[in-house]
Amino acid sequence: MQKFDVIAVGGGFAGLIAANRCAQLGLRTAILEKETAGRALNNSRYTTGIAHILFQDMRLPGEHLLAIINKGTEGEADQALAKAFADNSRRAIDWLVSEGCRTIMVNAPTGKSIMLAPPRRFRQGLDWEWRGADFLLRKLEANFLNRGGQFIRGADARTLTLVDRACVGIDAGVGGKPEHFAAKAVVIADGGFSSNIDMIRRYITPRADRLLIRAAGTAMGDGLRMAEAAGAQLRGFGAFYGHPVHRDAFTRPGERLLWPFPMIDPLTQAGLVVGPDGRRVADEGRGGIVLANLLAQLDDPLSTTLVFDDVLWNTVARKGPTAGNPMVVSAGATLHKADDLKSLAALAGIPADGLAATVAEFNAAIANGTTGSLHPPRSMSPLAALPVAHPPYYAMPLCSGITATMGGIAIDTDCRALRADGSAIAGLYAAGSTVAGLEGGTQMAYMGGLSKAFILGLLAAEGIARQVGAMAKAST
Ligand SMILES: Cc1cc2nc3c(=O)[nH]c(=O)nc-3n(C[C@H](O)[C@H](O)[C@H](O)COP(=O)(O)OP(=O)(O)OC[C@H]3O[C@@H](n4cnc5c(N)ncnc54)[C@H](O)[C@@H]3O)c2cc1C
Repeated sequence: MQKFDVIAVGGGFAGLIAANRCAQLGLRTAILEKETAGRALNNSRYTTGIAHILFQDMRLPGEHLLAIINKGTEGEADQALAKAFADNSRRAIDWLVSEGCRTIMVNAPTGKSIMLAPPRRFRQGLDWEWRGADFLLRKLEANFLNRGGQFIRGADARTLTLVDRACVGIDAGVGGKPEHFAAKAVVIADGGFSSNIDMIRRYITPRADRLLIRAAGTAMGDGLRMAEAAGAQLRGFGAFYGHPVHRDAFTRPGERLLWPFPMIDPLTQAGLVVGPDGRRVADEGRGGIVLANLLAQLDDPLSTTLVFDDVLWNTVARKGPTAGNPMVVSAGATLHKADDLKSLAALAGIPADGLAATVAEFNAAIANGTTGSLHPPRSMSPLAALPVAHPPYYAMPLCSGITATMGGIAIDTDCRALRADGSAIAGLYAAGSTVAGLEGGTQMAYMGGLSKAFILGLLAAEGIARQVGAMAKAST
C-alpha cells in the first residue's frame, strides 16, 4: 500500500493542474495515469488549444462570463458552480502562465480567444507534437515532479475505497498488478466517457456504435462508474460536444486525415443535409455542435449527405484555413460531383425525385425569406444558407463525431462529488470533462473542455487543501 494526501486519477490537464496546485499547497500528491507512454495521447494532448468559455475570452470579468454562461445555457447551468467558474477563469489562466504556459490571442468564430502556444497549425488531421498543449502538459509534469509529486504511469484506477461513506483511497492495477493507494482525497480527472460506446448508448443515443470517436479514445467513463458506485449523482446527459465530420473518417478510421481538420461545420451550416430519402433531416443553421447531436439521434447517424453547389464550394468552403476546400480533396475523401441534380443523386445513392423536390423547396424558401417555415425549419444566423443553384453540384457523405461528453459527476463549488440529496462525499472530488453542471440549453451550449480542466482543476485542489487543513486541525 502507498499513502498520499491526494490521488489524481488522470494525467490530462485537469489531473495535472489539480495535482500541481495540491503539491504547491504542500500536499503529498500522486497522479495515476493508465497510459504508459511518456506523452500519452489523451484529449488534452489532441486539443486544438483554444481556451474559451462558450467561445469567449476566459479573461473577461467574472460577471460578464457568468452572463455569457447563463445566456448560452438558458439558465440551465448550476448557478453557484457557474459563478465560481466564471469568477476564477482569469485566475486560472494567470496561474497557468505562472506555471510556464505560453499563449497567443486568436480570432475565434465569436471573438478573440486565448490559444496555447506554440499554436497548433491549422492543417489537415492531428497536429500535437511540440504544439501548445503538448508543451504545457510536459511543463506541468516537470513542475509536478519538481514539487515532489509522483506521476505513476500504467496505473489503471478501478475502485474507490469508502469508510463511513467517505473516500479514503483507491485501488488500481499498476503494471497489471493490484495496488492500493490510501489518500485523504481522490480527484477524478479521467476525461469523461466519450470513448465508451456502452455509456454513450446509455446516456446519449442508442446508435452509439454509428458515431465517430473524434477524440483520443482514452475517456472510458471509469471515473463516472467509480463515483456512482461511491454514491455520487450522475446528471446532465443528453448532448455532447462534437462536430459533423466527413463519413470517410468513420469508414476509413486509420487515416485520420479528416478530423479535427478540415472543419466542415461552415459547409453544413450553409448547405443542406439530406437523409437516404433525399429529404432534409435537421436545421443545419443551428451550427455544427447541434447538428452533430441531431445526426446522432437519427435511426442511422451514418445515413446523411451534405449537398451544395459550386458557389458554396468556392466561397464558404474556402474561407479560413480549415474549411474543407481543398482539404477534403487532398485527403482523397469521397466527394460526388455532377452537372445536374439527377446525376448527383445517382452518384450519392439518393432518390433523384426526393433530392430535386428538397432542393426546389430549399431554394424557394431562401429566395422568399421563408426558411423558418421549412420542415425542419432552417435558421439563417449566424451563417445564411446558400441556394443549391450553380452547377457543378456536390454531395459529401457525413457522420457525427463525438469529442467530449457533457454531463457526468455532480459537484459543488469546491468540486466535491455530490450525492442526489446534495450532500458532499467527503474525500471525493472531480474536475475536467467528467463533471456535470456547466452545460445545457436548447443550443446544447458547450462550455469548453480546456476551461473545465483549467478552472475546475484549480478549484478542486484548493477545495482539497481546505478539507485536509480542516482534518489536520481536527486531529490536533
Ligand atoms: C481533437 C480535439 C480538439 C479539441 N480542441 C479543443 C479546443 O480547442 N478547446 C477546448 O476548450 N477544448 C478542446 N478539446 C477538448 C479538450 O481538449 C478536453 O476536453 C480536455 O483536454 C479534457 O481534459 P481532461 O483532463 O478532463 O481529460 P483528458 O485530457 O482526457 O485526460 C484524462 C486522462 O485520464 C486518463 N485515464 C482515464 N481513465 C483512467 C483510469 N481509469 N485510471 C487512470 N487514468 C485514467 C486518460 O488516459 C487521460 O490521460 C478538444 C478535444 C479534441 C479531442
